[in-house]
Amino acid sequence: VKRRHYTSDEYVEGILKGDISILSQAVTLVESNLYEHQILAQEVIAKCLPYSGQSVRIGITGVPGAGKSTSIDVFGLHVLKQGHKLAVLAIDPSSERSKGSILGDKTRMEKLSVQNDVFIRPSPSAGSLGGVARKTRETIVLCEAAGFDTIFVETVGVGQSETAVHSMVDFFLLIQLAGTGDELQGIKRGIMEMADGIVINKADGDNIERAKLAQAQFRNALHLFPPTLSGWQPQVLTYSGYYEIGIFEVWKMIDDYIDFVKKNGYFEHKRQEQSKYWMFETINERLKEHFYRNPDIEKMLFDKEQRVLKSEESSFIAAKEVLDYYFSLLSKQK
Ligand code: GDP
Repeated sequence: VKRRHYTSDEYVEGILKGDISILSQAVTLVESNLYEHQILAQEVIAKCLPYSGQSVRIGITGVPGAGKSTSIDVFGLHVLKQGHKLAVLAIDPSSERSKGSILGDKTRMEKLSVQNDVFIRPSPSAGSLGGVARKTRETIVLCEAAGFDTIFVETVGVGQSETAVHSMVDFFLLIQLAGTGDELQGIKRGIMEMADGIVINKADGDNIERAKLAQAQFRNALHLFPPTLSGWQPQVLTYSGYYEIGIFEVWKMIDDYIDFVKKNGYFEHKRQEQSKYWMFETINERLKEHFYRNPDIEKMLFDKEQRVLKSEESSFIAAKEVLDYYFSLLSKQK
């Protein structure tokens, strides 16, 4: 498909009008690794920035099978009914088109995907977590400029991606399941500590009692944590995404949280901290890229690696020599 290329002003004009097709193309630009695309994308983002920020950003995580897509489908409908415009984005650094379910894939959200006022976008395809997360954060800016006032960012509750999502959302929702009797095992303390709300899904049929038990266990566990910076006491609720039970209560919790942190100033404080975080993240990422993508460095690293493995050189000396060489290259460029 031959695509017409827009100027950055044309992109921005389309985005501000809420043109979904242009928004989509701008996101593709953000996701592209081509240098010209990145330059253009940065221009578009910079021009959209003054129109962004006016949304509520919600991170949603849970292990595969916890019911993320089912839940996002019904949470999303709930949000739309209240007159909001919703964007569903995802961060999945492991995702590849060929490998099963892709987070944020439209086909996983059957009800939502046929609605107006919804923009669903799967995770940028595989790359470093930092890179994938940065692209999603930039996509949030574009979506907000296009008038989407509620943003969901979905991620899988395994590994590092929660931290990245946590650092770009206002509310972090952890979806859990009951059933094994030792619900708290296998869930990392760090992830629980990030959660502003824990919701136990599939509280339906035979599973209701177990869900209630899990709820009590999570509540007890949360009480042992130090107070949160926001002053908010994270809540634990049960619900059923499939049977649409308890959805209102989950959403009331999120609304209550947003009211609470907007009143006490934490909402704005957290956003500022996040902006700072992403500045440094972006710098770190670019520095690493610049270093590791240099062909001379690549060659030298390969050589040094062999020497270190054969104990011909210490790790520290090898590292120092590679870095010294890199810095000498930089000073020659001036
Ligand atoms: P994801 O991998 O986290 O996105 O999970 P899915 O939304 O795909 O759900 C995994 C499975 O659990 C599917 O077979 C769903 O039908 C089922 N499921 C999701 N929510 C519920 C629920 O509230 N109750 C019950 N009984 N099953 C559910």
